Amino acid sequence: MAGSIRVICPNLKCRAILSAPDHARGRMVRCRMCGMKVKIPSTAKVKTESSSQVQAEGDGK
Ligand SMILES: [Zn+2]
Repeated sequence: MAGSIRVICPNLKCRAILSAPDHARGRMVRCRMCGMKVKIPSTAKVKTESSSQVQAEGDGK
């Protein structure tokens, strides 16, 4: 399916690969395996999107 994002569950006891829809970027989804909330990164692989808007947020490290 196009427009899906794959994230790995942060739960070390789970580590399930979750697929989230493209519109779920930057949101929280719940792992269907363990129920842990996983944040979908907003800067995922962008395939078909006019990236005219660039998020210039400095990551506070
Ligand atoms: Zn999980």
